[in-house]
Amino acid sequence: MRALPALILALCGLTASACGAGSDGATAGQATLTPVPTVTATVTVTATDEPPAIDTAAPEQPEVKPLDGKVIVIDPGHNGGNYRDPQAVNRLVDVLTQRKACDTTGTATNDGYSEAAFTWDVSKRLRKLLRRRGATVEFTRSDNDSVGPCITERAAIGNEARADAAISVHADGSAAANHGFHVIMPKRIGGPVDRVVAASRRLGLAVRDAFHAGTGVPYSTYIGRKALDYRSDLGGLNLSTVPKVFVECGNMRNAAEAAQFRDPEFRQRIALALADGLQHYLQS
Ligand SMILES: [Zn+2]
Repeated sequence: MRALPALILALCGLTASACGAGSDGATAGQATLTPVPTVTATVTVTATDEPPAIDTAAPEQPEVKPLDGKVIVIDPGHNGGNYRDPQAVNRLVDVLTQRKACDTTGTATNDGYSEAAFTWDVSKRLRKLLRRRGATVEFTRSDNDSVGPCITERAAIGNEARADAAISVHADGSAAANHGFHVIMPKRIGGPVDRVVAASRRLGLAVRDAFHAGTGVPYSTYIGRKALDYRSDLGGLNLSTVPKVFVECGNMRNAAEAAQFRDPEFRQRIALALADGLQHYLQS
């Protein structure tokens, strides 16, 4: 133990900030055995005259995560408050191929579970998973009880973030017998989206494959081919200058799929599948 004061001096030299010289008037001589939180060297003090072993190995490298450095924008479709302001929501905006409503209220299950609540919950789960994998994640809306933003603004948020990938989360409201999921990708329209049509297709394929494998939801029985659809009427896609897709997770008017969407465990499976699809695309 005789070596301790000298040792503390040595550690102070190594990590001057940890010792707070001058900040509290403490000197090395007054130092106690209370641990100094930011000292990173490992010290072994023994009762012998052996010099203490100091592990001078470099500090542990921060964990490398698969999505480090990637920016992902998630657009949770619609907003829970949209129904309160039809005038704002129905305002027509320019989506390059046509003029279209700023947003819609979205659909709901027959027993009243709204698409906006579903997309909000799945998106939050997805954000958590992606952040754990190292990604920087931005949303296009910050709650589920206000109005908007318009589809034009939703696209702009992805563009301004220079997202490596963007995804708009939805569920459909079709005839009760229809079921299954599909992914919507942009088409060439002679506009800025043309540059990301090919990348969006790769993103769409990755999301389609991961969604199918991860959730077991079948390919849509009523839209697209093998759950792949291409559209030129969606502002969220037409106005995007970053790779972007929509996912319609299933049909909220189909009883079996509505029951799945109401189940938080199933929503977690959806989020996990979407995270895997995004990751596959970003790592390919
Ligand atoms: Zn929708």
